[in-house]
Amino acid sequence: MNSHSDNILKNEITLVTGASRGIGAGIAKLFGESGSYIIGTATTQEGADAITQRVNNGVSKGEGVVLDVSNSEDVNRIIKEMKERDLLPSILINNAGISLESLLMRIKDDDWKKIIDTNLSSAFYLCKAAVSGMMKNRKGRIINIGSVVGSIGAIGNAHYSASKAALLGFTKSLALEVGSRGITVNNIAPGYITTDMTKDIKSELSEALMNKIPMNRFGSPEDVAKVALFLASESGSYITGQTIHVNGGMHME
Ligand code: NDP
Repeated sequence: MNSHSDNILKNEITLVTGASRGIGAGIAKLFGESGSYIIGTATTQEGADAITQRVNNGVSKGEGVVLDVSNSEDVNRIIKEMKERDLLPSILINNAGISLESLLMRIKDDDWKKIIDTNLSSAFYLCKAAVSGMMKNRKGRIINIGSVVGSIGAIGNAHYSASKAALLGFTKSLALEVGSRGITVNNIAPGYITTDMTKDIKSELSEALMNKIPMNRFGSPEDVAKVALFLASESGSYITGQTIHVNGGMHME
């Protein structure tokens, strides 16, 4: 039996990038429990198999696929396969991302490109490939996962924060282009969330830094997933081009 009896995403197909771990895994779980078919991506076959196993748990249904979001050909291949199988996503969550810490003077050109390709170009490739199906159906939800540092910056994060800040402009422009087709495009900007990405920061985090978070704790992947579910559901149907901050109050706009 479905644990979310209202089944609010029944008949939806959600593509979640980076669903093998962290926030993406949390979104895949909650969206699956809410009735959506899940296509979750990982960078390895092992990761994809684990997603397939996790989502087909008697409550939800779906599959894991291998995808490198920084590779446009790979993205186009996946979307083409989905189209052939009548599984074009009605909900797209651009979540996959990486962070590297380095002061600007030491950022290598390759690392700059890697961050921009993985965190920003990926959203362009996926939206471009997936949006035409949504436009035909006159319905769709796109949610980009940004970051609080896209708004406030962070030392050692010039490349990462640039990639996340750029997602804001991207989100607004696409929202303007596709709003008339019943498609919403929004950005969620998480603060510190407990995942592999932050496990090193967390152990080193001084009390002073924790004091900057009024709620005095890191967020969980579920904290982000619940907001994504709201935006993807009927409840979020008149919200577009927005950034929703999920950060325990560490940054207020
Ligand atoms: P994790 O490091 O826990 O997971 C990253 C996910 O992205 C994994 O599923 C990984 O796949 C996938 N991924 C990495 N590179 C690629 C690639 N080239 N192609 C496809 N998939 C890839 O990250 P989080 O869950 O913490 O972060 C998820 C998103 O949220 C990111 O965009 C991040 O920037 C953002 N965010 C996170 C915050 C936090 O505090 N955790 C704060 C603000 C934003 P695999 O398992 O195969 O490596």
